[in-house]
Amino acid sequence: MLQQTQVSTVIPYFKRFVQKIPNFKKLSKANDQTLMKLWEGLGYYSRARNLKKSAIMINGKFGGTLPSNIEDLKSLPGVGDYTSTAIMAIAFNQKFIPLDGNVERILKRVLYLRSEKAISKENMQISKKFFGLSERASDYAQAIMELGALVCRPTSPLCDKCPIRINCISYKRKDFSLIKKTKKKLSNKI
Ligand code: SF4
Repeated sequence: MLQQTQVSTVIPYFKRFVQKIPNFKKLSKANDQTLMKLWEGLGYYSRARNLKKSAIMINGKFGGTLPSNIEDLKSLPGVGDYTSTAIMAIAFNQKFIPLDGNVERILKRVLYLRSEKAISKENMQISKKFFGLSERASDYAQAIMELGALVCRPTSPLCDKCPIRINCISYKRKDFSLIKKTKKKLSNKI
């Protein structure tokens, strides 16, 4: 639900959803109309369809339990790099750093990444080594994501409150502008 959608928007939907469909077994058997009704207003309905497909797969292939390794997680419909690393870190406390837009923004600023190549997916995966890893993987991943959302904000970053400003090249240069990837044309939006 949180993909492309703000937390405050998701909360009432999530509460309603888990009240009606509290586990994978129920989700795998959920009526499509009920599912769509619970999702109505959130958009990107493929997420709901993938959730049900994943529940069917979890029941059939993984004994009804969400797998706790990244390869099996990625085999679930709709679960890619970001979601699988977020689950590994946040749910299973494994040493992964999920790379969402907030975390990418920190990296762009702290390392002063200024070219298309520097902000490519491949380079971002390498650049995130900047953060290192923590035994408290779940807390650490969420803390970095929050640092991006609340402190290293898209406009007017709160550098005085930032614990990594000593390492931040953008802060030293007083240049907080961000470069964006050139968008490829999408022919088929979900
Ligand atoms: S010092 Fe400022 S620009 Fe640099 S990472 Fe922190 S909040 Fe972002």
